[in-house]
Amino acid sequence: MIRFESVTKCYPDGTLAVDDLSFEVGTGELVTLVGPSGCGKTTTMMMVNRLLDPTHGRIFVDGADISGADPVTLRRRIGYVIQQTGLFPHRTVLDNTATVPVLSGWKKARARARAAELLDLVGLDPAVYGPRYPEQLSGGQRQRVGVARALAADPPVLLMDEPFGAVDPVVRDRLQKEFLRLQAELRKTVLLVTHDIEEAVRLGDRIAVYGAGRIEQYDTPASVLGAP
Ligand code: ADP
Ligand code: ADP
Repeated sequence: MIRFESVTKCYPDGTLAVDDLSFEVGTGELVTLVGPSGCGKTTTMMMVNRLLDPTHGRIFVDGADISGADPVTLRRRIGYVIQQTGLFPHRTVLDNTATVPVLSGWKKARARARAAELLDLVGLDPAVYGPRYPEQLSGGQRQRVGVARALAADPPVLLMDEPFGAVDPVVRDRLQKEFLRLQAELRKTVLLVTHDIEEAVRLGDRIAVYGAGRIEQYDTPASVLGAP
């Protein structure tokens, strides 16, 4: 579903962020990218929705080489969740969640109905939280809105960059549980970046363990934990 073929990313200043990376994520599979800060996880992920393009190598989504894809069209099929959620502060939670469907040309009423369903799905009553503004939510609730928004256009692929990193451990634990339940139902193809090995093990069907610019191990949680 997502395939990296000998992908290298060198930034203009000469930093080699990703070095000859090849791996594949199956349809409906959740792969966690784990490793210390600066080892190339975010760079890897941002190449999938063409926020960055590789210096060398090719990336395929659903069998198609994305180097020829229109980034805007591509991003409609790829939900993106980041740590600080990037919610629009002057839009309500409901309108934030409806953003992508509206941009994709859905009628406003349909987009809002869909947004309400999604808020419900992530555990926020749309009647209560839909009309609020992001600053009127707790950190955990904002993070849930971020997930709902990424899911709103029903993309087959989700990219998540430290999605549960900005909340306290208790909230993180709850969000992880909820997300696992959601993923069991939705079966999205997910790349999830974390620097927390426990989170990687808990959430991942497979784990890509990064060292500087490279994947050092790519295996199931049991095998990664059992490794010498
Ligand atoms: P991670 O997500 O694992 O923390 P990143 O992919 O963000 O790692 O960064 C990988 C490497 O690329 C790091 O050395 C980082 O400093 C460097 N880097 C990231 N973005 C840029 C950029 N825009 N220009 C130059 N170097 C960058
Ligand atoms: P969570 O466990 O989801 O992070 P919190 O314990 O941080 O939730 O918040 C508890 C309650 O307080 C939530 O129902 C949230 O709606 C409310 N709340 C938090 N921050 C604010 C705020 N700035 N304005 C209004 N309500 C808030």
